[in-house]
Order: sequence, then C-alpha cells, then structure tokens
Amino acid sequence: MSNATTNDTLAKARIAVLGYGSQGRAHALNLKDSGLDVVIGLRPGGPTWKKAEADGFAVVEPAEAVKGADLVAVLTPDMVQPTLYTDVIEPNIKPGAALLFAHGFNIHFGQIKPRADIDVILVAPKGPGALVRSEYERGRGVPCIWAVYQDVSGHAEATTKAYADGIGGGRAMLIQTDFKEETETDLFGEQAVLCGGASELVIAGFETLVEAGYQPEIAYYEVMHELKLIVDLFYEGGITRMLEFVSETAQYGDYVSGPRIVDAATKQRMKDVLTDIQDGTFAKNWTAEYKAGLPNYKKFKQADLDHPIEKVGKELRARMPWLQSGKQATPAAEPLKKVG
Ligand code: NAD
Ligand code: MG
Repeated sequence: MSNATTNDTLAKARIAVLGYGSQGRAHALNLKDSGLDVVIGLRPGGPTWKKAEADGFAVVEPAEAVKGADLVAVLTPDMVQPTLYTDVIEPNIKPGAALLFAHGFNIHFGQIKPRADIDVILVAPKGPGALVRSEYERGRGVPCIWAVYQDVSGHAEATTKAYADGIGGGRAMLIQTDFKEETETDLFGEQAVLCGGASELVIAGFETLVEAGYQPEIAYYEVMHELKLIVDLFYEGGITRMLEFVSETAQYGDYVSGPRIVDAATKQRMKDVLTDIQDGTFAKNWTAEYKAGLPNYKKFKQADLDHPIEKVGKELRARMPWLQSGKQATPAAEPLKKVG
C-alpha cells in the first residue's frame, strides 16, 4: 500500500520507533503501510516486544535501532525520555539524523539538551494512537501539529511533513506550531479543562447532590454518566450543536447558572495554572515528584480511586451491557423492522 506524500524525503530513510505503546504502535504501522522502512527499538523482555514482532516488525534494542537510523521517533513515556536520550540516543544517533518527538515537554523544559548536529522535530497527532491507526486504515488520517526546533540538515521541515504524511496526518490537516506552544497548551488543556477541570467539576457536583440527601445512584447519572452526551455534541458541532439538542429549560439554566460556577475568579485561577506551566514551576515539581518515586501522585491517585463516585459508578456500569461488550453502543443503523 502506498500513501500520497507531499515529498519523498523519507523514501530512502530508516526510521527507528522507540516505544510501542499508544502512539508508537500506530505510528510504526502507518509508516510501514506508507512504504517506509521502520525498525522498532524496545527493551528486551519489555511488555510490547512480542506485540511488535507479531505485527511484523524487526525489533531490536534501542541503541541498535538508533545506530542505523536517519530518523529516531521517541515514543516512550515522557518521564523516561531524558535517561533514554543520555544513555542510548546521544551516544548512537548519526550526525544529521532527525530526532522526533510527539510532545515537546523534554526539549522545551530543557530536560533533554539535544546534540547540535541533529535535527529536532515534532509531530503530534491530535488523537489517541488507536484513532491514528483506525483512521489511517480507512484511508483517512488524524490532524497533526508539527514543529521544527533545530534544523541542521537544511530539510528538517520536509522531513517533519513527510513523517506527518507517513502516519496519515497529511490526509487530514497539518498545523505548524513550535515546541513552546505545543507543550504549554497541551499541559494547560489537560490540567485546567480535560483531566483536572472536568473530573473536579463532576466530583464537586456529585458531592453537592449527595450531601443534600439525594441518592448517589441518581447523582451519578446526572453529573457523570450524562456528561458523555454533552461532550459528544461538543465534539460533533460545538456549543451550537449542544444548544440545538438540549431543552429550552436546560438552555436557560445554562445561561443563568453556568457563569455562577465558572466565573472570573475561576478564570483567574486558570491563568495562575498557565503561569505555573509557562515559568517551568509545574515541570520542575513534576520532575522532582517522578524522581522521588511518585509519593504524592500515588496518594492523589488512591484518593480518586477511593471516592464514593467510583464505588457507585462501578455498580451502575455493571448494569450497562453495552459497556461490557467492550464496544460503544451504536445507534441503530437502520429503522427497526416491524415483525408480522
Ligand atoms: P505509552 O505509555 O502508551 O507507551 C510507551 C511505550 O514505551 C511502551 O511500549 C513501553 O514499553 C515503552 N518504553 C517504556 N520505557 C522504555 C524505555 N526505557 N526504552 C524503550 N521503550 C520504553 O506512551 P504514549 O501514550 O504512546 O506516549 C508516547 C509519547 O507520545 C509521549 O511523548 C506522549 O506525550 C506523546 N503523545 C501521546 C498521545 C496519546 O494519546 N497517548 C497523544 C499525543 C502525544
Ligand atoms: Mg482530580
């Protein structure tokens, strides 16, 4: 299978993909199906070695993969990348080769100081690995943002775009960014709105109802379960689509009560969170936490897992057969036929 690429910069290149998790597997399979030469670098005995081999790849130790490569894609967890760079990549990467990331964290915050004789580039698909793969298989792609941090070869931009094309991003949309913008906006989104903001909003809503004497089961449905309906509408057509689908009563309540929950003070605290990201406070604290063996992380995580909403949620979800099948319920594709 071949993929229409805007340039053939990588046509004769060997690409080493380090890490075979969510992004690594999707990138590697798409690049291979785009006709590119891909080798996987993994720790021997690591959890994904067999999977990569079963998918038809040559799998070697990271140092060996890096030695022969013209492009090294670093798709391991962010916190292991600095050591991986120092121990494996820096001593082995060819002068003039490209070092590619899917998140700018380590370069932007100086946790990795790349050698001066290599290109340093970024391609970040705006979706999880499973979608990057499934869209590619359908002949489509997931939009990617891309950036060049260091251009030694003189063709770093062409290399970056060829990689984005190879994983299918060029079939959808490529947006240029820089390492600073990608890193800071990604961290802000997950902290203030997606993971941090949304989960705290749900938990506070649940606690408010339960403390007022309402049943936890009813509270769960109202503030956690039904959030999916709203998020799906956002995803498909923004706030416009949500307003088209919810009742006039829900809309009026949104207009008068929403701004009482998220107000100017909330926005000010969002700005404070952004400042901590921009000035490196968050990166410094997170790196120290990781190096200390994650003591606070583990405590916070356990508190989330022990919250009453998790207990009631588990019981209620056990009665949602469409979740047990491992698939999302899909609306009936055609109207039900009448029997008789
Ligand atoms: P993951 O946790 O799903 O997979 C990590 C892989 O790295 C696994 O195969 C693991 O076995 C391997 N690994 C761990 N330590 C290693 C080491 N020392 N040497 C070699 N391999 C090692 O990670 P992911 O979510 O795919 O994230 C990879 C990168 O992609 C990160 O930079 C992340 O920020 C970025 N990213 C992720 C997503 C996403 O949706 N998950 C989206 C955009 C960007
Ligand atoms: Mg939380």
